[in-house]
Amino acid sequence: DQDQPKKPSWIRVKAPTSEGYKRTRDIMKDNRLSTVCEEAGCPNVGECWSQGHATMMIMGEICTRGCTFCNVATGKPNALDVFEPGRVAHAVQKLGLKHVVITSVDRDDLDDGGADHFAQTIRAIRHRSPDSTIEVLVPDFLKSKPGSVEIVVEARPDVFNHNLETVPALYPTVRPGARYFHSLRLLQKVKELDPSMFTKSGIMVGLGEDRSSVLQVMDDMRAADIDFMTIGQYLQPTPKHHRVDRFVTPEEFAGYEKAAFGKGFLMVSATPLTRSSYHAGDDFARLRQA
Ligand code: SF4
Ligand code: SF4
Repeated sequence: DQDQPKKPSWIRVKAPTSEGYKRTRDIMKDNRLSTVCEEAGCPNVGECWSQGHATMMIMGEICTRGCTFCNVATGKPNALDVFEPGRVAHAVQKLGLKHVVITSVDRDDLDDGGADHFAQTIRAIRHRSPDSTIEVLVPDFLKSKPGSVEIVVEARPDVFNHNLETVPALYPTVRPGARYFHSLRLLQKVKELDPSMFTKSGIMVGLGEDRSSVLQVMDDMRAADIDFMTIGQYLQPTPKHHRVDRFVTPEEFAGYEKAAFGKGFLMVSATPLTRSSYHAGDDFARLRQA
């Protein structure tokens, strides 16, 4: 795509080759699990998987939404697999994960948006790996019946993550079908339901936003009592997806990180290769020690 800015030197992805990478891949395959690491073509897969860190994607590989930055297929999803929570728990135990991130496609076709399936998965992991910390990265439950968020919160994940993805002005082109204030309100509600639960959200930059809108998102997040924030460079998965407007420089990322800490977030990750789940476990361990 000639319209695209050229990839700068700081976006470098090492080819995944290590033993740890292969082991993670085999365990996922044996348990018929998909990972967002692979589905999204995440640039950190070599690094994360060699350290036994991965983000599992539950409830199938077909999403009812069609966000323009996302490489997951849109369509009519398959029926839920009641054995999946058990398989996820098995894989977490086998991989010996200290911190696990569980995410899913959006399931507007289900009454509860998949909330109960999330809850079952959290419980199954807890049962087998009581010392692992669990982070869920959930869809927005925009079309689910009331009480869906409560179902996930009652299962007590350690970190409740939901990404705002971009600044509000870009929602119609980046995240059609979602609502900025609904997503913010969802996270605020989690904190109201359980003030001891950490809440987390993130955005991508390089989609066409300006700095002042990013700072405004930070303020909105803090007003909703969100604890952790991630900011990473958007990379186009295929030429059919939303174009990269520009590559934000490492210096600008450092500026965002400083601003976010200044606004009171407990944990901030803002680098070109930051993803929602990048080093999530390390940050969380550090925080618990503090
Ligand atoms: Fe997977 Fe997240 Fe690591 Fe990417 S950053 S490889 S999505 S765990
Ligand atoms: Fe992708 Fe999530 Fe959007 Fe579905 S809701 S298209 S999985 S980002």
